[in-house]
Amino acid sequence: VPAFAPVRDAIASAALDGPDAVAAAVARFRGDDTLERLTYEPMVLADLAGQMFVRLVELAPGGAERHLASPVALPAFLRLPFDEAIDFFTRRGGDPALVDEVLRAYRRRSSQYTDDQLDTISRAAIAELQRTLDEGGTLQDFRAAIRDESASLGITAADPRYLENVYRTQVASAYGAGRWAQINSPDVTASRPYRRLSTAMDSRVSPDHALMQGVVWRHDNPAFTGVAPPFRWQCRCALTTASDADLAAHGWTVSDAPPAGFAVTPGFGSASFVR
Ligand SMILES: [Zn+2]
Repeated sequence: VPAFAPVRDAIASAALDGPDAVAAAVARFRGDDTLERLTYEPMVLADLAGQMFVRLVELAPGGAERHLASPVALPAFLRLPFDEAIDFFTRRGGDPALVDEVLRAYRRRSSQYTDDQLDTISRAAIAELQRTLDEGGTLQDFRAAIRDESASLGITAADPRYLENVYRTQVASAYGAGRWAQINSPDVTASRPYRRLSTAMDSRVSPDHALMQGVVWRHDNPAFTGVAPPFRWQCRCALTTASDADLAAHGWTVSDAPPAGFAVTPGFGSASFVR
């Protein structure tokens, strides 16, 4: 969030010149390296963590039982400095060419994503400015509200909800993309040809995602195309692989199609993964 302080300052400085000046001031942050790194590095690490989890844990003997559903599964890895984490990944057998591909893909993604964020902030600022004028306030009042953070735009330390929401979802999506890349490799689909969905199973699970709790399907069933979490903003569902032995041991049955009432929100699922 401190990284967005200059954006707020720019909005406050442009405030007295009206909405077009505010939009232009925000647009000047497009391509800003500090803002792009805020998501770039965590997304790269989450993707690599997702890949490592499939390779080092899920495919290991007894690994499926030790599965943990989220990027917090590899907390030590995710806390490493960026360069050390990349180094760790390649030392543990990660393909360096794959790392380059991941870096390039998330560079593009974080750039596009930061631009989208700036557009959202710009619209929120202009809406706030308009609201101030509609309620009989002045451009000075708007500038003061930005400066004293009473107009948070969702990007202040006290009210970071906009930034947190997108950040968590982007990191969860990168983790899902890393897992997806590995669970689709031929050796994994050969030994673990099924997928199983689990939700967070608490009171906050949305009813439509709860329908998917424990659903098992074959990896090549076209009825499940694109079914990979996150399914929408702040989705905490997890997808794991399963073998014939897992199905027999747990008595799991294989579904032909997702349950009625479940759908992946457009812009989410495997279609949204970076590669
Ligand atoms: Zn979910």
